[in-house]
Amino acid sequence: MSERIEPVGRPGNEPVKAPAQNEGAAAAGADDRPAAKVARYSQRLLNEGHERWEGHRCPICFLFIGLPVGEHAMMNVCCVKRVCKGCSLAACQRGLRGCEFCRTPRPTDDASKLAMILKRVSKGDAEAIYHLAGQYYYGRLGLTKDVPRAVETWTEAAELGSVEAHYSLGIEYYYGDGVQEDKPRGVRHWQEAAMEGHVQSRHNIGAVECNNGNYDLAVQHWMISAKMGYETSLNAIKEVFMKGQATKAQYAEALRGFGDAAEEMKSHQREEAKRLGV
Ligand SMILES: [Zn+2]
Ligand SMILES: [Zn+2]
Repeated sequence: MSERIEPVGRPGNEPVKAPAQNEGAAAAGADDRPAAKVARYSQRLLNEGHERWEGHRCPICFLFIGLPVGEHAMMNVCCVKRVCKGCSLAACQRGLRGCEFCRTPRPTDDASKLAMILKRVSKGDAEAIYHLAGQYYYGRLGLTKDVPRAVETWTEAAELGSVEAHYSLGIEYYYGDGVQEDKPRGVRHWQEAAMEGHVQSRHNIGAVECNNGNYDLAVQHWMISAKMGYETSLNAIKEVFMKGQATKAQYAEALRGFGDAAEEMKSHQREEAKRLGV
């Protein structure tokens, strides 16, 4: 069963069918650091990042954005802020046509969008650099698709503190997409992001542990991401519970935690946006 539960995600939150991985990918232990140091790091990894990363909070209603974030919010290139669909709808209903957050008129063509991103990139804005990398990755906004350049750019963003860039680099190195496959390196990027509260990175660490047969550890990681509102982690816990590798109490705890997080992300505006198919 070990290949059933896979790390998920693509840069930019676009879903993809991940190839089956069944080899012993290294998690927090399989490196050459002294055992005590590794143990301390593993403990830190479990202790930190239980609160979601603030970058996934809508800057207008201050609620955390639903997961995956790319489906529940729109990125504005003017300020590189992601506004939830509920707030977008509310702004639209008030007749606001520009950016909901900074009021900048919306750029109409790719060249102006790219120019806005580059302006922030030139100031060393980590989020803008992260976003630029995604444009290279997919070949958008008039840029030629260039995965190695995307990886280079994510690396720069990660060094400047972009949590999402760590997540993307985790995917690139784990799957060897445009770079030499290096699973331990990929996992280390997810660990960095997970300790900052990046939900999908936390889920992926759990999936790697599961693939390694470390079910107890996998459930501990998924419990954290399920409680932050990630349904994929809840389902993963359910799957291992059905196979007898997690307890009923653990599944019940995950269900409750997930339900609470989902409830906290609800708002009248978001429900309205969902109803209207925004
Ligand atoms: Zn909002
Ligand atoms: Zn803006």
